[in-house]
Amino acid sequence: MGLMDEIELRLLPEDDRKPVPKPENLGFGIHFTDHMFVMDYEEEKGWYDPRIVPYGNFSLDPAAVCLHYGQAIFEGLKAHRGEDGKIRLFRPYENMKRLNRSAHRMCMPSVDEEFLLNAIKQLVKVEERWVPANKGTSLYIRPFMIATEAYLGVRPAKKYILSVILCPVGAYYSEGFNPVKIFVTDKYVRAAKGGVGEAKTAGNYAASLMASEEAKAKGFTQVLWLDAKERRYVEEVGTMNIFFAFEDEIVTPALSGSILPGITRDSVLRLGKKWGLNMVERPITIDEVIEGAQSGALTECFGTGTAAVISPVGSLHYKGIDYVINNGVTGPLSKRLFDEITGLQYGEIEDALGWIE
Ligand code: PMP
Repeated sequence: MGLMDEIELRLLPEDDRKPVPKPENLGFGIHFTDHMFVMDYEEEKGWYDPRIVPYGNFSLDPAAVCLHYGQAIFEGLKAHRGEDGKIRLFRPYENMKRLNRSAHRMCMPSVDEEFLLNAIKQLVKVEERWVPANKGTSLYIRPFMIATEAYLGVRPAKKYILSVILCPVGAYYSEGFNPVKIFVTDKYVRAAKGGVGEAKTAGNYAASLMASEEAKAKGFTQVLWLDAKERRYVEEVGTMNIFFAFEDEIVTPALSGSILPGITRDSVLRLGKKWGLNMVERPITIDEVIEGAQSGALTECFGTGTAAVISPVGSLHYKGIDYVINNGVTGPLSKRLFDEITGLQYGEIEDALGWIE
């Protein structure tokens, strides 16, 4: 099988490479590097022709399955440059595993996790000069797989492309680590049990847009999603997992099939347990959260995800009322987790858990 082939390098002459943007102008997902990784799949051949080539357009048949029926999955992870100049990936193997779980759910082919991680490392090495150095900035890595077979019948495609693109991204908290205002929607749902919520698949994000646009128009940063059946249980916040700190336990919704199993979520659970905190995965209702916010029993609430790492929630707007959490300021647990995870990512804290590659 072609999978173990050497990765072919087809690189741009130095003179044709783009200037790297200044750290203050990075934004998110705007600038792409000079090269990308690509490989192809056909049912009879498996994965073949892995290559690092100049960044550029794909040629797709208008009948490509991904354009019609959404067989498309992706991942998101970051490379960070520490003060020592070294580039570190944070738990990248977890992203490879999740990509394969998403592929399985969407009837797409699996990839060799070691091989893909190695390809990503090679691509990042080629694009080394694009990894920004300022704390908070990073090189965002976007592996994705799309169905390319030209066929309009509804069944899993027989041809795919797997690609990895890179973009340098700015500091998420350039204006301070401040809590956000969240709108609890009981009108829209992100995913239902038995559906594809636990897969990182394109359609989940398209499905979420209207709710977040409506929330933004009302002055909120993001939406808190409730379960599809009863609109009672908390699921996620925007494109992040969510945690609630009470006096005696720190709760995150249990993975139920409709929640994306975040790698930051898992890291927070593991760090909290290591610190001796009572980390609990269980169903949690919006009523319990609101009661906690009112009584003060809920001391902190925060989202977790690759983009922001930790995003403190200052208030929840539910059924027309604003409920403030921790007086709308960032709590000590949010701060501690943010400092620990970013400290590991930038090589400032010793990697005792073997999370850094
Ligand atoms: N939920 C959703 C819907 C997401 O898109 C993400 C981002 N991947 C997360 C949660 C957080 O996952 P992670 O910590 O792996 O970035």
